[in-house]
Amino acid sequence: MLLTGQSGLGKSTMVNTLFKSKAWQSNLPSLEVPIPQTLELHSVTHVIEEKGLKLKLTVTDTPGFGDQINNDKCWDPILSYINQQYEQYLQEELLITRQRHIPDTRVHCCVYFVPPTGHCLRPLDIEFLQRLCRTVNVVPVIARADSLTIEERDAFRNRIQQDMNTHCIDVYPQKCLDEDINDRILNSKIRKQIPFAVVGADREHLVNGRCVLGRKTKWGVIEVENVAHCEFLLLRDLLIRSHLQDLKDITHNVHYENYRVLRLNESHQ
Ligand code: GDP
Ligand code: MG
Repeated sequence: MLLTGQSGLGKSTMVNTLFKSKAWQSNLPSLEVPIPQTLELHSVTHVIEEKGLKLKLTVTDTPGFGDQINNDKCWDPILSYINQQYEQYLQEELLITRQRHIPDTRVHCCVYFVPPTGHCLRPLDIEFLQRLCRTVNVVPVIARADSLTIEERDAFRNRIQQDMNTHCIDVYPQKCLDEDINDRILNSKIRKQIPFAVVGADREHLVNGRCVLGRKTKWGVIEVENVAHCEFLLLRDLLIRSHLQDLKDITHNVHYENYRVLRLNESHQ
């Protein structure tokens, strides 16, 4: 999984939120120091346990883009990282004595953080999203959603969906890849919920005797894993439970395949 978006939207915090959330009761040390600004791509891997199954999850954090005066090509480092992983996999596949199990560092999902402006997608987001969707599975989220009211979140989500439609931004789960009617029913429901409005936190607080992951404010704790507070759980369930295998299949059968064909055509010219 790779997290991307402008800086300050909570990507680095989300890495910790993902690993600290209760699902796998990880006992990672709590971070009491503020997270520094992310200056380069950085991957964190942990083995998490899901219903008795061990799963190796790698989350790659990226520096925020679009902070420069000239943001031309600010997506290049991210896209080239994604392509490098395809290239590595391809080189392994092409070896005559290839390993039975090729180490797979390909990005199976890219979570794109949209700033909670409440207006619409910015031209920079549109351009980046268009490029990303052609290369990798993309799940957009409304970042720092605690800054929007429930009505604002819904209106903003609708607007983003419209913008994505207008600009042919085909995020995951892609309509054209639904395999049957059951897929279509399940995925249509998810498509209506995307982008999820998420809140990230890496600290636990005591709420009515329970220890919860959340953000403490003067008026209470925003609980990350409470569906009444935000949609982090929907995101996590999609990525790590319900659609985990599908994300990997589409990466292999569609995105990697596109890359492979392109590269092999190149080398035959
Ligand atoms: P990054 O630049 O995208 O990696 O963002 P960071 O994770 O470094 O977070 C930047 C600041 O935003 C930190 O002070 C975080 O505590 C704060 N932050 C992270 N997630 C949220 C969120 O969901 N809501 C709010 N209000 N603040 C957040
Ligand atoms: Mg960061």
